[in-house]
Amino acid sequence: MIESDIDLQPHNTLAISAQSAHFARVQTLDQLREALTFARQRRLPILPLGGGSNIVLTGDFPGLAIQLDLRGLSVKSGDFGHTVSAAAGENWHQLVMTTVEKGLGGLENLALIPGKVGAAPIQNIGAYGIELRDRFSSLQAMEIASGEIHRFDTGDCAFAYRDSVFKGSLRDQYIITQVSLALPGAWEPCIGYPALHGYLQKRNWESGALTPAVVAQAVTDIRNSKLPLPEIIPNAGSFFKNPVVETALYESLKAVHPGLVAFAAGDRWKLAAAWLIDRAGWRGVRRNAVGVHDSQALVLVNPGRGSGEELTGLAEEIAADVYAKFGVSLEPEPRYYP
Ligand code: FAD
Ligand code: NAP
Repeated sequence: MIESDIDLQPHNTLAISAQSAHFARVQTLDQLREALTFARQRRLPILPLGGGSNIVLTGDFPGLAIQLDLRGLSVKSGDFGHTVSAAAGENWHQLVMTTVEKGLGGLENLALIPGKVGAAPIQNIGAYGIELRDRFSSLQAMEIASGEIHRFDTGDCAFAYRDSVFKGSLRDQYIITQVSLALPGAWEPCIGYPALHGYLQKRNWESGALTPAVVAQAVTDIRNSKLPLPEIIPNAGSFFKNPVVETALYESLKAVHPGLVAFAAGDRWKLAAAWLIDRAGWRGVRRNAVGVHDSQALVLVNPGRGSGEELTGLAEEIAADVYAKFGVSLEPEPRYYP
């Protein structure tokens, strides 16, 4: 069941070639437990793998990569709403479309996000004003040290902007095996993002006539128009998180750059990292095999199948330049391995 010296290139959407010392594809909880025991006995680090759309391989991985292929999906309706439960290896977009096709609303803004269900809570995936935490009910996860299954409710997950307890104090301690979501009985569309609103307005959609399927189609069309498909141009989506800064810094930047794109985030301000990178002159720039996408400056691309080092080198150059020009620090969103 456990293979050795496997190239992870087909397992990451940046198409970076890097060897994993060991590799296992698991389809049951028992297989996952066995894989964890194998790693524990050899003191190997573990790389849980979903769709590989939010990782950067900076070199060979000296441990055990575990491809999570646990399957199963159910949708149950009750008096107050709907419960969707899915195993970690289910495709996220398929889950969204399963609910949309049943006429259920709540997940449509999260259509077309690549990857698997098990990774969705890790960074509390979000798009177009909805985050996973808005629909989250609970999850089950296997503790890496013991092989025991534990349940986590919303309060246990410390969800925040592109963040959760699994990137913080519980990093590398659990493998998520199943996720349950709660969809509202009465659906309210969330169409405040300018791109989404503009798309629907252009097609004369009255809000009363909207359905989850219409919103899902709008999100799909908008995303397809500006994001590169990883199968064609390898990428990991947004390479940096949108920085959240103090009001004083926001105001000083806004005074110098009236076009700055920013949104209130509590008593601080979220700046559009894409605007900063674009304004610093990086959109469309190429560095040998790697570069910055020409219609979305937040997306670093790897059309020449370059190395993780080339890509992270470019990311560091961009972050340093943005800091020099705006005094704002950019933090990568995907996780680097090893
Ligand atoms: P992977 O890349 O395989 O893993 C990501 C991290 O989670 C790794 O650290 C991995 O070890 C860990 N992990 C994976 N599965 C498990 C598990 N079961 N248990 C424990 N740890 C696990 N993200 C957004 O939030 N919003 C977007 O709109 C969005 N758009 C994107 C568009 C494109 C074109 C691309 C390429 C990426 C986009 N992303 C977006 C980022 C990415 O798709 C999400 O973060 C997604 O949830 C990653 O899923 P994955 O299965 O590919 O995770
Ligand atoms: P966009 O619509 O051009 O908006 C640019 C930025 O402004 C986004 O990053 C978004 O922040 C923010 N924004 C826009 N309207 C907002 C509002 N009404 N309130 C608060 N913030 C607002 O962005 P885009 O690049 O095309 O992406 C569209 C959506 O898909 C965004 O939500 C984005 O996060 C998501 N996406 C994520 C990834 C990823 O890899 N993480 C990749 C592609 C797309 P937020 O990013 O916080 O929403």
